[in-house]
Amino acid sequence: MSEVRRNPFTGEWTHYAQNRNKRPYEFMHKIEGKFIGNEGCPFCGGHEDKTTPPLYQDGEDDSWRIRVFPNMFPTVEKETETILENPFYEQISGRGMHEVLVDTPHHEETIDQFSLAQLERIFIVLQERYCKMMWAEEVKYIQVFKNCGPSAGMSIRHSHWQIVGMPVMPQREDLMRHHMQEEDCLFCKMLTYEKEQGTRIVEENQDFLAITPYASRFPYELWICPKRHITSFANVKTEELKSLAVLFKELLPKISSLRKDVGYNICMIDGEVKGDFHWHIEILPRIGGFAGFEYATGSYINCILPEQAAEYYRTEK
Ligand SMILES: [Zn+2]
Ligand SMILES: [Zn+2]
Repeated sequence: MSEVRRNPFTGEWTHYAQNRNKRPYEFMHKIEGKFIGNEGCPFCGGHEDKTTPPLYQDGEDDSWRIRVFPNMFPTVEKETETILENPFYEQISGRGMHEVLVDTPHHEETIDQFSLAQLERIFIVLQERYCKMMWAEEVKYIQVFKNCGPSAGMSIRHSHWQIVGMPVMPQREDLMRHHMQEEDCLFCKMLTYEKEQGTRIVEENQDFLAITPYASRFPYELWICPKRHITSFANVKTEELKSLAVLFKELLPKISSLRKDVGYNICMIDGEVKGDFHWHIEILPRIGGFAGFEYATGSYINCILPEQAAEYYRTEK
């Protein structure tokens, strides 16, 4: 049973997925002193029978590098009951798709250690899954993301991504979409301005610009932005995915160097499926708290200016 309800005051959507309560929570076990290593890990090579049947696997059992399967505890579901309508509020059945992409068979390996070739393969497979999902009738928006580390909300330590095809447009992306669809894309204009300014530029290659955004919410927040106006993740060319992998290979170790066991989220930010947006990636290091002030106000307290953060990324070896 999955349901999405809208806050009538703020327009925010909340997803109710009661089955997610049953998820294994490896880090919690560790905190309670009952950490069991990788024996019970459903994502390890050799443990293929512990997941739902694969939708994609690039090798035999026990010898694959990338594996995709439906999330056993999905946020949205392909088949879900039709919810009882409440005429005062806005709500919708949580119909959609929720997949997991495991990007290494090795339990301890983390994305900042991956080879360039592996990063390229990951982006190519993520895009294939995105392109399949975007044609599902119930899917209005697709969120591709990765949680790295317990402070970033990772519940199973084994490296993985999630792809969620949702029946509603998230409020933040909806707002961004409207600003980008004016005559000139605001995102394109912002990139031109940032190039002129230079202070928040971290790195540039032929296809992408990495910047610390002007109003960064998180310390060392990093955006990886395509230089051309790419309307959706579906429309990134394979050559561009390779060039994206080069930036990841260079920048992720610098995030890991911020401090020991730093957690971070990698989020692809897109518009409505088949719509017009300026697709990009936001990487959000989780240093410091996300607390009452942030939840109450929707504003953020950030102890690092983005200009300082850009300086760090430019000089850290
Ligand atoms: Zn594992
Ligand atoms: Zn644009």
